[in-house]
Amino acid sequence: MSIRINPDLCVGCGNCREVCPGSLLFKDKENNKTFIKYPDECWGCTSCLKECEFEAISYFLGADIGGNGTTMHVKEEKKELHWYIANHDGSKKIITIDKTKANSY
Ligand code: SF4
Ligand code: SF4
Repeated sequence: MSIRINPDLCVGCGNCREVCPGSLLFKDKENNKTFIKYPDECWGCTSCLKECEFEAISYFLGADIGGNGTTMHVKEEKKELHWYIANHDGSKKIITIDKTKANSY
């Protein structure tokens, strides 16, 4: 389980680096962009994804959790989270979650 950062989309704002509870994200001194230094230690809390306003970070569903390379990224709009899922077979899906009802039963 880990994340992927697209260097073409990262603007180097540093927001993700500030929220990672494991201090796994670092600034590349050459281009100011962020990279994950210890991907094996990422436990997929998704904090960094939610902080990135540039959709540069994707959640990577690897073989360790039964995935085949599917990626997910999230966009926050007011009270909703939109999860964009890109499946390994090329298909795509969007799951929208109402944050105000996320903890209701
Ligand atoms: S929050 Fe996004 S744009 Fe900002 S440094 Fe992290 S990956 Fe780059
Ligand atoms: S998903 Fe969580 S643990 Fe993994 S890099 Fe992002 S903030 Fe850190």
